[in-house]
Order: sequence, then structure tokens, then C-alpha cells
Amino acid sequence: MHWADVVAKELMSKNQRNLISTGITPSGFIHVGSLREAVTARAAYQALKDKDADVGFIYIIDSIDPLRKRYPFLDESYEDQIQRPLSEIPCPCGEHESYVHHFAEPFLEAIGKMGLEPELHWTHQLYAQGKFAEVTDTVIKSKDKVAQILREVTGRDVPSDFFPYTPKCPSCGKYSAGKVLGYEFPYVAYKCHCGHEDRADVRKAEGKMPWRMEWAAKWKLFGVTCEPFGKDHAAAGGSYDTGVRFAREVLMNEPPFPIPYEFVQLKGHGQIHKSTGSSVTGLDALAITPAPVFNYSFLRYNADRHIDYDSGLGVLDVVDEYDKVEAWYYKGGVEERDRDLLRAYELAQPHGPRKGMPLQTPYRHLVQVVQITSSFDMMLEIMKRTEHVTEIKEEDLELLRQRAQCVRFWLDNFAPEEVKFHISPALPTCQLSDGEVRFFREAHAKLLSVEWTGDKIHDLVYECAKVSGVGAKAGFQAMYLIFINKKQGPRLGHFLSTLDRSFVLGRIEETFSPACNLP
Ligand SMILES: [Zn+2]
Ligand SMILES: [Zn+2]
Repeated sequence: MHWADVVAKELMSKNQRNLISTGITPSGFIHVGSLREAVTARAAYQALKDKDADVGFIYIIDSIDPLRKRYPFLDESYEDQIQRPLSEIPCPCGEHESYVHHFAEPFLEAIGKMGLEPELHWTHQLYAQGKFAEVTDTVIKSKDKVAQILREVTGRDVPSDFFPYTPKCPSCGKYSAGKVLGYEFPYVAYKCHCGHEDRADVRKAEGKMPWRMEWAAKWKLFGVTCEPFGKDHAAAGGSYDTGVRFAREVLMNEPPFPIPYEFVQLKGHGQIHKSTGSSVTGLDALAITPAPVFNYSFLRYNADRHIDYDSGLGVLDVVDEYDKVEAWYYKGGVEERDRDLLRAYELAQPHGPRKGMPLQTPYRHLVQVVQITSSFDMMLEIMKRTEHVTEIKEEDLELLRQRAQCVRFWLDNFAPEEVKFHISPALPTCQLSDGEVRFFREAHAKLLSVEWTGDKIHDLVYECAKVSGVGAKAGFQAMYLIFINKKQGPRLGHFLSTLDRSFVLGRIEETFSPACNLP
């Protein structure tokens, strides 16, 4: 059984109603791993929905969190913004409501593509609306218990003046590292490190709980029954362990069922975006392959399995596997041990699987076709001819368009040089031997009438190279040279078949011209 169904069964046996929660602190660019959390949460939610369970799905944006440091992508003016709430910091581009919106909006758009349609909550609003007031009051009144739990679970010292609420100072605009002077609901009196003395109203966004407590507070506030999180939080003495005890012993609430997930690591070289110069981000990953493929690449593994994300050649293998599983899904033929992959495929579809099998257009093929055409229509013509498709349905057309866009993005930004080429606009300057010229004449004569398919062309070129005496290797190299000015390239027969026959013949004919054959 797929892990998401195992989780769903467990949750249904425990609760009448379930609520899946996930979220993000969008303080900067989004790591591919953050998307794993989104995929994981959605899979659990979808699995429950598929079983007609009563289930909700919330997404909490930690917008009231402080900026912890000036990240390398921020200019010097952000030095002054450290320890201020993300929702009150200006956005780096000037076009968003705040810093947090600047980073959250593209992320929300991305998870929307992945099929997440959760109820959104921003913590700066939850505090401002007084939603946390009661829990905050409980936590503050139980501060000794809270400190004891922290001490016992983490094994670390907790200072004697520990106070589970940090006021935000209106004078310096920062979370105060000063001294708390007293508490009487709803006011926390304090003296900020800047010298300002004031009181913070816990019914407003005038301060916040430390995040370990805030996490448990969110569970209580919404009634969360299940939440995925990175395995660092699941470690012994980690934040889930403290959360469990805060929930049970302070908030009198049952903590959610955890889905700890392993990290996603960026694999090897080729992970650097060629124009931005930074590592592949979650947004890049969603531009490299369409969302269902991306979702599938995570869902095919158990949550506790480590994943290497490869934005290089590995992309092609992932899409091939996705296509293979898609064919199993619609046509059958899957072996018992791969059965969970069918469910992974199903869960990976943002809007559920289609009724009939989608038209498959292999990525490897598109990688070539995209490089020899300049428009989608040209591409479509070639795909129709080489894939022997006469008519393409509107929804398949959309899939093809999406794939073509992704392939283009990948080629421009992440693909290794070995898969890249471009058709030389004219015959490259080259010196051909007598044997090679013989080979080209021979090939030209036969290409005039051969059936224009990859296999037939391949066999023909191979035969001509042998017969003319140049040998297969040199023959193929000579062919690549006159078309793409490289000694190697995509599978030759297949590649030539995507080109127009008259263009191929014309280019080969040029090799007979003396200009190319200068001594
Ligand atoms: Zn912005
Ligand atoms: Zn201050």
C-alpha cells in the first residue's frame, strides 16, 4: 500500500474529522526540499479525500517570524531589518506588499500548480485578530512548566528569566531582547534593549511566542490531526518532541500524527542556474518538469527515504519513468512490486488522473525537436510526423505545450552541454577526405528515396559509411559535423528524421562542392 494510504487509514481510525496542516517561513528562495513538504501534505490529504473522509487542509505562512540574518541576496539596507517581522519588512523588488509576500507569492503559485488548494493563514494576521490570545495566555501562565519541558526534552539549560513571549518594540521595530517586567492579561510589560519601555497586548500582533510553542499553539488553534515536517524536527529532543509535551501538558490537546520526511539533496554538478548563478530552487524544479512529473518524482518514494534531486541528465530518466508508469496505469502490465507507483502516479495528478491515457511525447525526443525549431507550430508538425499522430486533442496539446516549455527552460538553464546543439545555418567550414565525400554522395543518393524514419535512416547511414570505406564511426562523425558542427550529437537517424528531407539532402549536397574541400 502507498504510504499516503497507510497514513489515511491510521488517521481515519483515530479521528472523526481530520485536518492536515503544513506551511512555510518564506524568508528567502525556496529550496526544492520545501516542496517535498507540500507534496507530502497534499498526498495525505488526497488519500483521505479518496476514502471519502471528512478532512480539511490548511497552509500556514509564518509571516510574523523575524528576519534572522541578512541573506547574501539582500542589500545592506536589510541589515537594519534583522529581528523585525517579515510582514513588516519592505519587499526587495518594490512590487509586493511586504518581504514575506515577495517570497510567499511565487511559492503559493508553485504549490497551486502542484495541486494544493489549502485554506491559507498568515501568522501576522492570526496574531492581529487575537486568534492566539487565549493560547498565549495559557502558555505565559504555564511558563514554569514550559521551561521544565524545554529543559527535560532538549537537555539544554533554560535561563531563569525565560518568558514564552517576545514583545515587538514599536520604538526600534524589532523583537525585543530586553527584559519582561510583568504580565497581566492581556499585557506583557517590558523594557526593550533599545531603552523603550512599553506593554504588548497579546490580543494583537505586538509580539509572538517562540516558535516551538507557537507550533503547538497552531495545532490547538486549528485542531490539526496530521502534519509532515523535516526529519530534523523529528529528532529526539527536537521540536516535535517538545511540541507533543506542550500540547498534552500545557494546552491539553492531542498532538497531530507526524509524517517526518527525509531531506532532498541537490545532486552533483549541473545544479547551478546558468543565468542567476544560484542553486536550483523549488521554482526552477517546477519549471524543469511539469508539476505532475515533479510530484511523482517525490511520491514514488516513502517519506522517510532520502532523495537526490538531479536537475541534469537525471531529469530525462525521471520523465521516462513517469511515462512508463503512466502507460501501466492506463494499459496495465504493472508487476506486483511496482503497484505503489500507480498510486504515486495517481496522487501526483494535480486535478486527478484523466479518463483516457494522455498522449505521450518523450522528453528525450522533445529535447531534440525543441532545438531544431523556433516555434511551437513547427514543433507540432515534426511531432505529428515523427510520432505518427494525425490529430491531437486540445488537452494533449496543452500537455505538449507545457512539456515543450519545460524542455526549453531546462535547456536554457540546467541541461548539460552534451545534450545541447544547434543546427549550423550553413555548412560549417570543414575538410573532407575523399572517402568522406564518397560516403556523402552515396548517402545522398539513397536518402532521396528511403522511408523517412529514424531507424531506416540510421541503417542507411551505417551501410553507406561501411561501403564507402570510411567506417561507421567516422561516417557518423562527419554527418554530425555538417549539421551541428560537433563530432557527436543526438541519435543520428532519429535526429535526421526530425529534419526536413530536402534540407538534409541540400546540406549533404553542399559537401560535394569544392569550397568545402579545400586542401
Ligand atoms: Zn517584491
Ligand atoms: Zn526597542
